[in-house]
Amino acid sequence: MQRIDVGVLGATGMVGQQFALQLSGHPWFSLTWLAASERSEGRKYRDAAPWRLPVPIPSEFADRQVDGCVPGRGPKVVFSALDASVAGEIEQAFAAAGHVVVSNARNYRMDAVVPLLVPEVNADHLALTARQCTARGWKGTIVTNPNCSTVFLAMVLAALREFEPRAVVVSTMQAVSGAGYPGVASLDILGNVVPFIGGEEEKMESETKKILGRLGADGVEPHPVAISAHTNRVPVINGHTETISVGFGVKPPEDAIKRALVTFAGKPQQLKLPTAPAQAIEYMEEQNRPQPRLDVDRGAGMTVSVGRLRVCRVLDYKLVALGHNTVRGAAGAAVLNAELMHAEGRL
Ligand code: NAP
Repeated sequence: MQRIDVGVLGATGMVGQQFALQLSGHPWFSLTWLAASERSEGRKYRDAAPWRLPVPIPSEFADRQVDGCVPGRGPKVVFSALDASVAGEIEQAFAAAGHVVVSNARNYRMDAVVPLLVPEVNADHLALTARQCTARGWKGTIVTNPNCSTVFLAMVLAALREFEPRAVVVSTMQAVSGAGYPGVASLDILGNVVPFIGGEEEKMESETKKILGRLGADGVEPHPVAISAHTNRVPVINGHTETISVGFGVKPPEDAIKRALVTFAGKPQQLKLPTAPAQAIEYMEEQNRPQPRLDVDRGAGMTVSVGRLRVCRVLDYKLVALGHNTVRGAAGAAVLNAELMHAEGRL
């Protein structure tokens, strides 16, 4: 099979490097173009920013020259790992020029004609792209993946959708890699917990409702579940942990919840997409799991680990969920989105 050329906008950042890793040796996509800011333009990829992942820099990209984020220079399909302060303008320019932008940035996630996609949950929302040309005048398209913490919560709630989740209280313990590079100052985070991540609580509350929402003639009707989120930065390198309490419309027995979690699957598993984990959600019976250091890489970082299911005295049940923020919560999520789009003939 002829591989499809793809590029990465923001290739030098925390998520951009994860994109390079995910796309190295990809069976369907060939990463031929790396782009970042003027600071990096013209430099070799290995020199533009220090490589920060705990595996060697993919040799096929190391000496490639970093380009500027200029529409028309790169291939038709581009992933975006751009900083949100610039993603709005740059992604729009690429979509207007006819590129397919598979974005990880927040800027277009809540746009009424842009899919906010978790392929196991709302693959049907991809149909929204057909409205972008008329509504925005773009020759290309933008498809987004959610905020990292939102992905894990949305997957758990989607698995339990049959029990009608109606109220959720979620508290996060989020890794420092989620803040990009250099991110949070070491003096702020070492031996500490920072109980504020700008905009994160609002994103978890609104994005989850859009993802679980129903696609109708007028766009996505948000799911009625009420969500209250507390988000905290903790001194963990990779992996966001979430403690979640849920109240249901139909209170299920405990074993029905576990069954729904471990059997949860969607199009990625049916279509055997290259980045899809065999098991989207894994349930861990040990009392003290999941833990970021031990469990963050399950399913090559694409599986959400869940444990500690028990009765909640305020809502119905409570549990713990953990996901890899730069893989399932960012680059891996976007690559899975693109794989679904390709499998459906949308690239
Ligand atoms: P980061 O490490 O700060 O990287 C930002 C990237 O944007 C770099 O490649 C940077 O290029 C580029 N950039 C900045 N200003 C630019 C400009 N004016 N023109 C072109 N490129 C520019 O951030 P990150 O953590 O990788 O996050 C990237 C995006 O993903 C953000 O929108 C973030 O909110 C989102 N996200 C991150 C995570 C996570 O876990 N980290 C999870 C979900 C979503 P230079 O190196 O040349 O400056």
